[in-house]
Amino acid sequence: MALPLLPTTIAGSLPKPAWLAEPEKLWAPWKLEGRALEEGKRDAVRLVLSLQEKAGIDIVTDGEQTRRHFVNGYMEKLEGIDFKNLKTVRIRNRYDANVPQVVGPVTRPAPVHSEDVRFLRSATTHAIKFTLPGPMTMVDTLHDEHYGSREKLAMAFAGILNQEARELAALGVDVIQFDEPAFNVYFDEVRDWGIAALERARAGLTCKTAVHICYGYGIEANITWKKSLGNEWRQYEQTFPLLARSSIDQVSLECANSRVPIDLIALLEGKDVLVGSIDVATTRVETPEEVAKVIREALKHVPRDRLYPCTNCGMVPLPRDVAAGKLSALGAGAALVREELV
Ligand SMILES: [Zn+2]
Repeated sequence: MALPLLPTTIAGSLPKPAWLAEPEKLWAPWKLEGRALEEGKRDAVRLVLSLQEKAGIDIVTDGEQTRRHFVNGYMEKLEGIDFKNLKTVRIRNRYDANVPQVVGPVTRPAPVHSEDVRFLRSATTHAIKFTLPGPMTMVDTLHDEHYGSREKLAMAFAGILNQEARELAALGVDVIQFDEPAFNVYFDEVRDWGIAALERARAGLTCKTAVHICYGYGIEANITWKKSLGNEWRQYEQTFPLLARSSIDQVSLECANSRVPIDLIALLEGKDVLVGSIDVATTRVETPEEVAKVIREALKHVPRDRLYPCTNCGMVPLPRDVAAGKLSALGAGAALVREELV
């Protein structure tokens, strides 16, 4: 994959067209069914690819147009999980949600995303990234009635994710990203088994691997949580040194408009750093100069050949025109800094 200096990419998701799913909503139900739904998903992928390519995004994704949710979209294809009888649990110590229950050994009866990746690979000549939920975040989105141990369940998921990731890499994915927002909450568990589960998920992969750790979508529960974190957000300080010692290649994190002290990214020595330069918790569209400013700050702590301008998190809950504006600002902001460097 031939990439320019400061290659741009996105955390993963983009809004879906209103004819495919209800806009500005997480877990929005599909508006189509059967064959029309399958065709609709592919048309939506074509649209988000064109949007990213025109905006100057170098490593593109399918915008998660083929799944309803970044965790459940995967888990609903597995066996051992009861999606009918939901239980109320606290997600990331932050908000209550009705979640499925693990009722037996978790297994993957068939590949989940192979067809999606075959299509994505055929629909663009750009480098492609594919996102999967991380093992710890999967565990945190369930009620467990079978394993009796978050670690054991995470390891079972890691084995499943590893099989999936190997198949997707063989189909031509350039980057596999595991989304682990739970890494920003359960620091002891991250140290005790979270990194080990992530390592198991990426074992033997020949493509690049990334982990995305963030402060979440711009939903109310997350905004309230962020207000409680004080003036300096130092959560990354505990996890980054562990990730620096891991075999993960890239770390995607939140920088734009956040209270994360930017010098913390220096703790990721040797890793590619996907610097969140777009705030996804506001509908205000950044100017290219604002994006450039975040990148210039990050360049003080990360070598230029390891910096990838990115979004803070997924953009699925945003209005479509806002997300399109933010993509253009990201591409244009990165271009500004690139010109200064060459
Ligand atoms: Zn995120």
